[in-house]
Amino acid sequence: MYLKQIELSGFKSFAKKTSLLFDSPITAIVGPNGSGKSNIAESFRWVLGEQSMKSLRGRRGEDLIFNGSVGVAKMNHASVTITFDNKDKKFGLDFDEVSIARHVYRDGQNEYYLNNSRVRLKDIFELLSKISIGASSHHIISQGEADRFLNSNIFDRREMVEDALGLRVYQYKKAESERKLDKTEENIKEAEMIRRELAPHIKFLKKQVEQIEKAQELKRNLVTLYHDYLKREEIYLKDAREKINKEKGGPAGELSSIEAELGRISKELSDAGSADEGKLTSLRELERKINEIRFKIDDTSRQIGRLEGRIEAGLSNPFLSQAPTIEKERVCPTCGQSIKIGVDTSVESDFVKRKKSELEENKKQKTEAESLLSKLRQEEMSLTAAHSQLKVEIDAHKDGLRDSERKMFELRARKNELLSKLGFVKIQEEKILHEEDDFKKELTEAAILAGREVLNYSGFVIELDDPTTEPREAQEERRRKIERIKIRLEDMGSIGDEVVKEYNETIERDKFLEKEIADLQTSAASLREVMKELADKIEKEFVVGIERINKQFQAFFETLFGGGTAALTIVTVSRKKPADGSMEDEGFIDEEEGEPERGIDINVTLPKKKIRGLQVLSGGERSLTSIALLFAISQVNPPPFLILDETDAALDESNSRKYGEMIQSLAKYSQLLIITHNRETMNRADILYGITMGADGVSRILSIKFEEAQGLVKN
Ligand code: ATP
Repeated sequence: MYLKQIELSGFKSFAKKTSLLFDSPITAIVGPNGSGKSNIAESFRWVLGEQSMKSLRGRRGEDLIFNGSVGVAKMNHASVTITFDNKDKKFGLDFDEVSIARHVYRDGQNEYYLNNSRVRLKDIFELLSKISIGASSHHIISQGEADRFLNSNIFDRREMVEDALGLRVYQYKKAESERKLDKTEENIKEAEMIRRELAPHIKFLKKQVEQIEKAQELKRNLVTLYHDYLKREEIYLKDAREKINKEKGGPAGELSSIEAELGRISKELSDAGSADEGKLTSLRELERKINEIRFKIDDTSRQIGRLEGRIEAGLSNPFLSQAPTIEKERVCPTCGQSIKIGVDTSVESDFVKRKKSELEENKKQKTEAESLLSKLRQEEMSLTAAHSQLKVEIDAHKDGLRDSERKMFELRARKNELLSKLGFVKIQEEKILHEEDDFKKELTEAAILAGREVLNYSGFVIELDDPTTEPREAQEERRRKIERIKIRLEDMGSIGDEVVKEYNETIERDKFLEKEIADLQTSAASLREVMKELADKIEKEFVVGIERINKQFQAFFETLFGGGTAALTIVTVSRKKPADGSMEDEGFIDEEEGEPERGIDINVTLPKKKIRGLQVLSGGERSLTSIALLFAISQVNPPPFLILDETDAALDESNSRKYGEMIQSLAKYSQLLIITHNRETMNRADILYGITMGADGVSRILSIKFEEAQGLVKN
């Protein structure tokens, strides 16, 4: 891994896009005052994530953007991109090159990119910590900051040393573990809080569940009671139904045959009625005929009488008696007495003749009438006989009907008797029907209240008392018992299954939280373990690192000062926390406040001088001490590159030479970028970049030779 190039665009005086390639161990940047050399050192500091505007010689982000000049317009955005070769994958990224870029806009917004992908500043810091570059930027010594290490407080010094020793990566890991631990502890607290919140709810639900369990126990009892009750009721109802059917069967059968018989009799009576009617009509017809014949008989008798009168009158006529008469005796047809009739056949006048004819006629008519009468009498006799016969028949039939009527009355009486019996049976049947109905309703209700299993009562074995013979009160007592349990169940309220579900879910959640807390505690413990291991590692490597630095420090110090002693010592003190919340730079020692922290003190003694302490050193001595320390640190854990901005400014010729030698030995391990006016230093560089600034206030860069560089510096 090595630094390949830096590219500036719009950054401070570098208005145009400018690139510097670093393909040699030592690169020197030279140029007249104010040409923009320090701007390059600052561009390094900035792109690597510097947040302090003070160390960038600005007040706000805008100050870093080219501000315009006569002829060149101001820019709105500045960017710096630094590119590393990463073939050895030191960055832990699977790229051959790693580029880090930072952009700033006039509104102060900053953006960071890693291989052109936008990232957070934190990501940049973490990445750089892998190549021992930390936020303290101990490897970038700005102009006038040669004695920066000396001027820093003991805690900043510690940070710089930690950065330099490559402990920053462990610090990040430790901080990361700390962050995870905080998060884990927060999660533990949160889970514990939820558990605490759940506890009363669980308690409440438990009570509910206990209530449900009690209700379930009652329900089980209820089911058993129901099985007994329902089985008995079913047997009882079946038996009652059979009995009532039997009771109903006899009378009902008899009733139906009585009704059939009654029907038959009533039909018979009605048929008889119509038959009688016919006979009566015939009887009346006979009577009419008899009357008619009798009338005719009377009429004929009267006619015969009249004819007899006429005959008698004719016989007694004198005219008929003058003529010799032959007396003849005849029997009178009407009176039956013997009468004498004389007929004169000698002398007959017309008159007599006529009278005789009339008489004869009358006699003839009389004979005819008598014959008719006899016929009529015969007819009358036969009709009278038929009438009598019919009357006898009618009377006999009437007698027969009277028997049927009597039977009908008897049957009706029996029917009424049966109907009243059946009425009583019906009342009983209705009672059973009612009970059957109640039974059905009970089944539905029982299934709702105690569950469908209650309906599986048919297999229940009844141990005592036959349901068909036991007193009904026993079953009613069972019914009351069931009702009592039902009421108790209702009183317990309808705590649904969802409560049990909720209870189980809550318990499960609580157990889950309990396990999660245990897991979190395990991971917190392992994080603490990791942190302790990291702290131990940092501590160990820090102490060892200080020892190694001290060796080099002593050696460089002796080289530069020709003797004396120099060493870093570890001190543990508390920081003073000022009222404004910021950390005080120097007045940090206050045992009363804060956690004790480690810091670094510097102890030097100059050769041949008795005085001790940094405060008494001259400016040059401070620079030399700083350089000795910087080089010592860089020697122990060489940074990938080191930027020294006029660190050699205060050195005299002899020290400049020594300095030159020292940077050459340092360049074996770190790339050096040196901004200098020092001829000796320039002489050691492999590449020289000259920076110039024209009238337009824009810095430009040119690769130059050593001789040109000297000229450039003199100008
Ligand atoms: P010296 O050798 O004296 O230390 P230098 O070469 O290091 O000088 P720098 O300090 O890098 O010079 O550059 C300072 C120059 O950069 C000044 O001319 C200053 O005006 C210019 N400059 C600083 N900020 C901006 C800016 N935002 N826009 C334009 N120019 C700027």
